[in-house]
Amino acid sequence: MIPRRDANAKTSVQRKGMSKRDIAGKVLGSSMLRSIGRLVGGRGIRILAYHRILDDDLTSFEFDSGVVSATSEAFYEQMRFVRENFDVISFRDLWQCEKDGRSWPAQGLIITFDDGYRDNYTNAFPILRDLKLPASIFLTTGHIGEEKLFWWDKAALCFKRSANQSILIPELSGEPINLTDKEARNIAIGRVLDWIKRVPDETKESFLAGLPERLGVVLESDIAFAMHLSWDEVRTMSEAGIEFGSHTITHPVLSNVGPERLKDELVLSKSAIERETGAPVLVFAYPVGRRGNFNDASIAAVKEAGYSFAVSYDEGLAYQQSAIDDRQPAISREQTNRFTLPRIHVEADHSASLFRANLTFSSLLVGA
Ligand SMILES: [Zn+2]
Repeated sequence: MIPRRDANAKTSVQRKGMSKRDIAGKVLGSSMLRSIGRLVGGRGIRILAYHRILDDDLTSFEFDSGVVSATSEAFYEQMRFVRENFDVISFRDLWQCEKDGRSWPAQGLIITFDDGYRDNYTNAFPILRDLKLPASIFLTTGHIGEEKLFWWDKAALCFKRSANQSILIPELSGEPINLTDKEARNIAIGRVLDWIKRVPDETKESFLAGLPERLGVVLESDIAFAMHLSWDEVRTMSEAGIEFGSHTITHPVLSNVGPERLKDELVLSKSAIERETGAPVLVFAYPVGRRGNFNDASIAAVKEAGYSFAVSYDEGLAYQQSAIDDRQPAISREQTNRFTLPRIHVEADHSASLFRANLTFSSLLVGA
């Protein structure tokens, strides 16, 4: 799941029309400039971060719309663009480069999906297979084959379904939180999820257990039916060349759990995927994934658990460690450790030109 952007910011952008990012995307995404981008766009590899590929109407979507990255149609166009302009590889290829002492491909790009939603199989996989593109899916193993909502979907669902016009959450604020319209509810969801990411995992669990009752909502027992991948679907994709990485068992914010739980989340999820697919798991994706959602202890535990790479949700180009030298800005050096590889976000409200610009001119636009 992704760190939510401020709901207020999003609506003000909509009101004003095109954001600066959209305009920059329109100009820089033009085909004329793509060849220049090859020269100045940055020499690191691009790791694209997707979550869900869904065609649902997001205005009436009951779950967390913040994790919908693209429609099937937009995803198909994006994949055609990356196939034509980049060398699409997997983490296995990166690992082989390291083993052989070779450099990472200059135009290398890796397609990743976080969480393990079933639409990765029903919507993304057919497109990837048709275009013969590899991809890496990070599984939250405790949800595979289970009808269990992710915590962000449960929170979003409760707030969207509630008939209440306000809610008092003393943990968050002494003032009641307004729930009178859709925009207010989205702001409330954002506030609650931001708070959840900062508290100990036990506090998160007990808060969520009581949330339906506080909001007067009843959740059907099969509410998460077919929402997540099954192990059979994972195996089918694995046999077709899709690579699987770990995203823990329960998707906790790693800096909010103790050392024993941390180790179990990293080691047991890895062994479950290896047992079910028969393929080694080389890479890990930090849940939520911003610096602060994981810390030095988390990074050390990822290494200790036997992973070769880990990806964050910070934005940037990923550089090969041996290629990092004094010519790189300090922030890039820090960010491009093989256990904190940054990615490039893809979100449902990104236009086709912004997508192309983010990939072509990654070193200019990322984080703008
Ligand atoms: Zn996630």
